[in-house]
Amino acid sequence: MDEFSIIREYFSRQVVHRDDVIVGVGDDAAIVTAPPDLDLVCTTDMLLEGIHFPDSTEAYAVGYKALAVNLSDLAAMGARPAWTTLLLSMPTADLGWIKGFSAGFFALAAEYHVQLIGGDLSRGPLVVGVQALGHAARHQVMLRSAAAVGDAIFVSGQLGDAAMGLRAVQGRMRLPAEVRDRVVHRLAYPQPRVDLGLAIAGIAHAAIDVSDGLFSDLGHIAASSGVTARIGLDLIPISSDFREYGAELGWQTALCSGDDYELCFTAAEKHTAQIIEIGQELNVPLSKIGWIEKGQGVKAVAADGTEFVPQHQGHNHFAA
Ligand code: ADP
Ligand code: MG
Repeated sequence: MDEFSIIREYFSRQVVHRDDVIVGVGDDAAIVTAPPDLDLVCTTDMLLEGIHFPDSTEAYAVGYKALAVNLSDLAAMGARPAWTTLLLSMPTADLGWIKGFSAGFFALAAEYHVQLIGGDLSRGPLVVGVQALGHAARHQVMLRSAAAVGDAIFVSGQLGDAAMGLRAVQGRMRLPAEVRDRVVHRLAYPQPRVDLGLAIAGIAHAAIDVSDGLFSDLGHIAASSGVTARIGLDLIPISSDFREYGAELGWQTALCSGDDYELCFTAAEKHTAQIIEIGQELNVPLSKIGWIEKGQGVKAVAADGTEFVPQHQGHNHFAA
C-alpha cells in the first residue's frame, strides 16, 4: 500500500469532526478557527521505539500513548485539547501495525473530542511525533514559574506503578501475573488528567505533568519559581501493588522514574478543601504531599526527619 492510500485508509477516517476545523487532513495545511477570547496552547512530543516504549509494545498502545503524553502536557497547562497532528516514520508499511496504531490513537482522540488535522508519513526508523493544540482561558494557564511560598503541593493518582511495569516488561522484575498486568497497563495506557487540569486552572498556581519522575518534575517547578518544594515521603501516594512488590525498589524508583503522567501542582493552602472536592467529583485521587518554602530545590523528608537524596533525579536523555 502506498503513502497516499495509507493516509486515506488509516488516518483520514475518524469519528471526531469538530466545527472549528475548516480544513483537516488532505490539503497542504490544515485550517482551524480559534475562539478570539481564548489563548492557543501548543505542545509536541516524540516517541522512539526502545527509548519511550519497549520494542514489544503493541501498536494500539503506541498510538494511544503517543497522543496521551501530549494531552497530558496540555492538561498540565490547564488547556482543553482540540486538534492534533501526527508524524510517523516506520521501516515498512506494516498494515497490521498501522491499523492498531491508528485505532489506539483515535480511541483516545475520540474520548477527548480531539480531531487529527494533518501529519506526515515517511520510511525510516520507528518514530512517532505528535503535536497537540488546545485552548485555555487567558490568565488561567498554570505555569511552572507560578509556585508561591506557602502553597500546598498536590499530586494526582499514584506514583511508581509505571516504573514497575517497565521493569516487568524488561524482564528485570518478576511479578504475579495479575499484578504484572496492572502495572504494565499503567505503563502502556496512562490516563491524561485533562479534566483535572481544566478544573484546577484558575485555582492552582504552578503545575507540571509527572513524566520524568516526581523528584525531577517538581524540581522544574522549584527552579522556575525560585523556591524550595518540601515533600513528606509518608504523604506520597503509592499503590498497594508498589507497597507490596516494589518496596525494595524504594523511593529511588517511586520518585525518580518516568511515565506516571499524573499532575503535580501547587495552590494556596486555603484552597485545599476545594481542591480535594474537585478530585472527589472527578473521581481522581489527590494527595497533599508538601508545601512551598523559601529556598531552592526539592527536599523529600521522611517522617523521622531523614532526607531522601536520589542517586539520579529522573529521566534525562542527554545526562552525562
Ligand atoms: P505534502 O506533500 O503537502 O506534505 P502529504 O502528501 O505529506 O502532503 O500529506 C497529504 C495530506 O495528508 C496532508 O493534509 C497531510 O497533513 C496529511 N497527512 C499526511 N500524513 C498524515 C498522517 N500520518 N496523519 C494524518 N494526516 C496525514
Ligand atoms: Mg508530507
